[in-house]
Amino acid sequence: MIDVKNLPAYVTEALTDFSDEQNVRAYKEALEKVNATLGTDYPLIIGGERVTTEAKITSYNPAKKTEVVGTVSKANVELAERAMQVADATFESWSKTPAEERAAILLRAAEITKERRHEMSALMTIEAGKPWAEADGDTAEAIDFMEYYARQMLALKDGKPVNSRDGEKNEFEYRSLGVGVVISPWNFPFAIMAGTTVAAAVAGNTVLLKPASTTPIISYKFMEILEEAGLPKGVVNYIPGPGSEVGDYLVDHPRTRFISFTGSRDVGLRINERAAKINEGQIWIKRVIAEMGGKDTIVVDNEADLDLAATSIVKSAFGFSGQKCSACSRVVAHADVYDEVLEKVVALTNELTIGDPQDHTNFMASVIDEAAFKKITSYFDIAKEEGRIVAGGTADDATGYFVHPTVVADVSPTARLMQEEIFGPIVAFTKAENFDEAIAIANNTVYGLTGAVISDNEAHIEQARQDFFVGNLYINRGCTGAIVGYQPFGGYNMSGTCSKAGGPDFITLHMQSKSISTALR
Ligand code: NAP
Repeated sequence: MIDVKNLPAYVTEALTDFSDEQNVRAYKEALEKVNATLGTDYPLIIGGERVTTEAKITSYNPAKKTEVVGTVSKANVELAERAMQVADATFESWSKTPAEERAAILLRAAEITKERRHEMSALMTIEAGKPWAEADGDTAEAIDFMEYYARQMLALKDGKPVNSRDGEKNEFEYRSLGVGVVISPWNFPFAIMAGTTVAAAVAGNTVLLKPASTTPIISYKFMEILEEAGLPKGVVNYIPGPGSEVGDYLVDHPRTRFISFTGSRDVGLRINERAAKINEGQIWIKRVIAEMGGKDTIVVDNEADLDLAATSIVKSAFGFSGQKCSACSRVVAHADVYDEVLEKVVALTNELTIGDPQDHTNFMASVIDEAAFKKITSYFDIAKEEGRIVAGGTADDATGYFVHPTVVADVSPTARLMQEEIFGPIVAFTKAENFDEAIAIANNTVYGLTGAVISDNEAHIEQARQDFFVGNLYINRGCTGAIVGYQPFGGYNMSGTCSKAGGPDFITLHMQSKSISTALR
């Protein structure tokens, strides 16, 4: 077992350097290895047991839309109930397993993931359409979550100090909650799925893991890693299935103690509302951790490095085709520099390469599926009504779901393009007369996830620190790419409960504290 007493301090996992030919070769080999497994059928895992159902979820390659990555058994209400009973029973032993043992399993899982790093990333390239660097970042983040939360749990295992007095010893400790339902999105199919799962589990809870139906295979592979790392059977149960059926059933279940959800605003709100209702046999108020959508803004001041602004906008808007909750989908530029920033952004956008993510020279690939393709491209007509398309505005779904990076100029701050989460490669520009107005526009959505300010004016930077109402504010850089343990992540308002994944408070959200006071005789 890993010696948790002598752990080195946490540092983030380095990203792979793909300018090194050796790394390119290794990634290509990993792609070959994953391609050789296409079409495999994967079971559910309940209490360590493989369960195969007749009903299947089919996972397709979004860049080659008829290519089947694999099929996965599909949980229904009966199997969800079976998984709940297993998780409920396993909680007894797992919650009493010493924190050191639980943390050691996470650290071992991190080690195994490092060994299988390119294989996990290559699978995301094929299952989620992630370009190499994006997939590599996703795997690195998953490793970070395991390394970081293991250490956080160790730091919390003896509680926190409170005052004692003569004749009285007081202690403050943390206890596990119970069975948690983890519901994850497809856009960080490894990092968010694994991060939310291990945070719950290392805190001594048992987990029902319902991954997104578009990316179920990467989570099956993660289950294999957890098993190899020595996680006891029944601690994490893998039950992919339709959100509307399995999700609702488990959210409503009286034995569900908490729900850790990452996904869209509408589904998050539905979960929050349903979880608030007390069902028969329920003896607690369910806790909901919900991280939801965003409509993230980069503000460009008139005193600013405009090349930095342009590269930050393009990278934040079009990395992984804008399918990040943190993606820049709106730019508010000072009137003095608006035309110049726009021109630079258009020039950089026109240079972007788009195509199959298995070819690493492509910066962008497809969007996730047909529904996303239809939704995103429906905004082209809206863009023509609400502004001027100055780059992109085209798409091609002949072989995969490719949407070209699109820049829309001269959009009103209250237009749909400026307010609605599109979740694709479309960025809208609006003009502000001064910095006060820029911040007011930046704050005028229901969301509050990330935001960036590009400015050389210290007073304006200070103003943004105070008034830009977002959970993650970035100064003189892009608004994506939060790193575990460095930039804890989570938003305000309709972006969620601001749980700050990858931060020092996250584990405690999965626990309840206990005060113990002993009279000394
Ligand atoms: P989504 O449609 O809300 O789905 C997220 C998860 O919820 C999936 O596993 C989905 O299952 C499940 N689900 C659907 N209906 C449900 C129901 N009634 N009850 C319980 N679960 C249900 O979101 P997505 O398209 O996967 O992800 C994109 C969204 O996530 C964007 O809005 C993005 O901003 C947000 N996001 C936020 C963060 C953050 O940290 N704030 C991070 C990443 C993504 P099925 O797949 O089976 O439908």
